[in-house]
Order: sequence, then C-alpha cells, then structure tokens
Amino acid sequence: MSNSRLVNYTRLSPNCSKPRNHAIDKITIHHMAGNLTIEQCGAIFAADGRDASSNYGIGTDGRVGLYVEEKDRSWCSSSSANDNRAVTIEVADDEVGGNWHVSDTALSKLVELCADICRRNGIPKLNFTGDKSGNLTMHKWFAPTACPGPYLASKFPYIAKEVNKRLGNAQTEYKSQNGASYRVRVSIPDLNIRKGPGTDYETIGRYTGKGVFTIVEEHVGSGASMWGRLKSGAGWISLDYAAKL
Ligand SMILES: [Zn+2]
Repeated sequence: MSNSRLVNYTRLSPNCSKPRNHAIDKITIHHMAGNLTIEQCGAIFAADGRDASSNYGIGTDGRVGLYVEEKDRSWCSSSSANDNRAVTIEVADDEVGGNWHVSDTALSKLVELCADICRRNGIPKLNFTGDKSGNLTMHKWFAPTACPGPYLASKFPYIAKEVNKRLGNAQTEYKSQNGASYRVRVSIPDLNIRKGPGTDYETIGRYTGKGVFTIVEEHVGSGASMWGRLKSGAGWISLDYAAKL
C-alpha cells in the first residue's frame, strides 16, 4: 500500500494500529470541527494519549497532511471495523459552528485525494448509499457525533459524482489511446505488471518473466518514459525495460 503523492506535510501519529487488518475499500470523510492548519491537526494527533488520528488531513488552503500511513489503521471513526478498511480524511472548516462550511479549495482537493486513493487501491467507484453499506461513509453513522457537519455531509453525493467522473475519465483516457500494436522483448526476469500506466497503480503481483510480448496501447504515466498495455490483458509494463522488435 502506498501513500498519496498529494501530501504536502507529514507528521506520523503514534495513535494508530499497525498494520490495518483489511484491504482498503472505503473512504470516510470527517471534519475537524475547527479551522486547523494541517500542521496544527498533526500536532494534536501526535500527542500521546490523545487516542485519535486520521490517515490524512486537508486544510482550508487545500494543503494535505499525512498522519497515519495508508497501510495502518487510524483511530478516527469510532469503529474499528470501519477504520480497518477505510482511509480516513479530516477536512478543516472555514466556518466554525453553523453549517461548518468547508472552503472550495479544500473541497476540490478532497475530490482529488479521494480519486487518488481509489486509483491506487483498485476501488473502481465511490458508491454513496446514504448508509454504512456504501464505500463512502460518515463518522456520525458509527457514533453519536455531528461529524462531518451539515455542509460537508450535504456534499457527499457531489464528492462521489466528481470522484467517479475522474475515475471514469482516467480509464477512457488510456483506453482511447490507440494505434500501438507491436512486439517487445523483455530481458529482465522481474518486470512488474501493473493495473494501470504508472507506478502509482498497484502491481498485479507477478512479473512478465523474460520473453516476447505484444503491446496494444501506449500511455504516459509516472515512473517510466512510456507504459505499454499487454495484449494478454494482464496489465501494463514500463517500456523502459522492453526493446521494440
Ligand atoms: Zn469525525
């Protein structure tokens, strides 16, 4: 499990359980109930005996803090079962009290972060059902709290829609890149196959092995000058380790 590259500031909290006992398949969005910077939020979670943390925090300025690595379980939603499978995010309020409004900058970074979490963890879609059965959950469904506040709670359908737009786009973006169909020789034994074109996509857990393979699509992505999709459907490889025949 990786962490988001959107992170601007890291302060790891001792208040967590290592490692989480379930694969990540949910996201739980919280509000800070205050207008804390990501540094102030990190300082609170860093305190021994505070018994609280989240995986990420987002400030009103849209900066992102990492407090508990994704591989570990944060103490955030008053539910061990939820926090073991969810990435938790605390978002600052730019209105203290009332509707607990959240800035547009923070909201748009939240959408970006959720899309990034879904991509890296193989979550195909955010499904907001309005209850615990979906994969986008709220703190107040697990404990008597108002978290995430009226404003952010009202934005959950919008957040799911925007995240899914980005996930759908990413897929069509690289599926529509076409024209490539050629053979390559791989000469190293341990070339990873990934679920998408970039090192920010998970590996499928096996290598191509040495041999000749057919590439049917190319796409730019992180970690290589170009990525190629295998005709077998197994996934994507870095073309830096493949010689065109
Ligand atoms: Zn909360």
